[in-house]
Amino acid sequence: MANGLRLLIRERREIMKLSSFLHFAGFGLKTILLKRQDPIVGTVIVTDQCNLHCKHCSVNNITAVVYPYKQICREMQQLYAMGVRILFFCGGETFLWRDGRRTLRDLVLEAKAMGFLLVNVVTNGTFPIDLPEADLILLSLDGDRKRHNAIRGDTYDTILHNVRCATADNICFYMAINQINKGAIAHVCRLAKKLPTVRAVSFNFHTPYPDTKALALSKREKAACCAEIARMIDAGAPVFNLKSAFPYLIENRFPTPCCQCVVMENGRLSTCGRCIDVPGLCEQCGYFFVAEYTLLFRGNPKILLEMLRTYLRYI
Ligand code: SF4
Ligand code: SF4
Repeated sequence: MANGLRLLIRERREIMKLSSFLHFAGFGLKTILLKRQDPIVGTVIVTDQCNLHCKHCSVNNITAVVYPYKQICREMQQLYAMGVRILFFCGGETFLWRDGRRTLRDLVLEAKAMGFLLVNVVTNGTFPIDLPEADLILLSLDGDRKRHNAIRGDTYDTILHNVRCATADNICFYMAINQINKGAIAHVCRLAKKLPTVRAVSFNFHTPYPDTKALALSKREKAACCAEIARMIDAGAPVFNLKSAFPYLIENRFPTPCCQCVVMENGRLSTCGRCIDVPGLCEQCGYFFVAEYTLLFRGNPKILLEMLRTYLRYI
C-alpha cells in the first residue's frame, strides 16, 4: 500500500477514534445509569463455509451457504437501526466471501459508509491480508507451530507468512485456550509484540459445545492461564483483555448472556452469540468479551478504568 494512503487511513482513524470514544462513553453512561439493554456490538455471519476443520469448532460448513451482498447490507442496516456501532464480520472464513466481483473489502466499505464506528473482521488468516480499511482484523493463532497445527491443520507457516506480508498494522491475534494449547500463551504474546503488523492479542477460553467438551479447561487450569496472561501483560505484552475480569472468568461468575451484543445469521437475530440456544452453554462461557462487557455495563469501576486504557491503546 502506498505511504500516502497509509497516512490518510491513520489520520482518519485518529479522528474517528475521538468521535467513537465520545459515542461509546455516552452509550456506556446511559446503559449503566438507566440499566438499559440496547445493543452496541453486532456480528454479521457472512458465510459458515470454511476451508478449515478446526478441532474445537462446532460452526463450520453446516450449510456452507455464502450469503448475498444485498442480504448482508439489509442485515447491517437492521443492526445500525437498533443502535449497533461496532460491527464484526464473521464466518466460517470471511475471506472466502464473494458476491460476483464484490469481496470482503466491499462489505467493510459499505459498513463504514453506513456509519458504523468500528468495523472488524474475524479470519483464520490463511488468505493474504490486504484490508487496511478494517479497524481490527481478529486473526486466529492457537499457539506455536506444533500446537496450532494440532488444532487447525498444517496452517501455521501460511498464517505467519500472511501476517508478515499484511498491508496494515490492524491485526489482533485471537487465541482460544484449550487442553491442547494451554501451554502456548507466552509464545503468542511474544509474537504479537514482535510482529509489526500485529497490534495485540486477545484471548478466550474454549467454550465447551456438546461435541468439544473434552477440550475445556478446569478452574485450576483457567487460573494458571490467567496468571500467565497477567505475567505477560506486566512484561509489556500487548494483550487486548482486562486483568480485572480474570477472577470472574476463572469461576464463570459473570452475568450471561451479554445483551449489548447481537449476532445476525441469515436473517436470524440472536442476543450475545449464535451459541445462545445450546442448553447450559452460557454457564460455561469462555468468551472474555462477555465477561468484560457484562461487568462493564453493570458499572464495575475497575473494569471501566481498565477498558478505557485498553481501548485507547489498541483500537
Ligand atoms: S477457521 Fe474458524 S470457522 Fe473455520 S473451522 Fe476453524 S474455528 Fe471454525
Ligand atoms: S454467554 Fe452464552 S450466548 Fe453468549 S457467547 Fe457465551 S455461550 Fe454464547
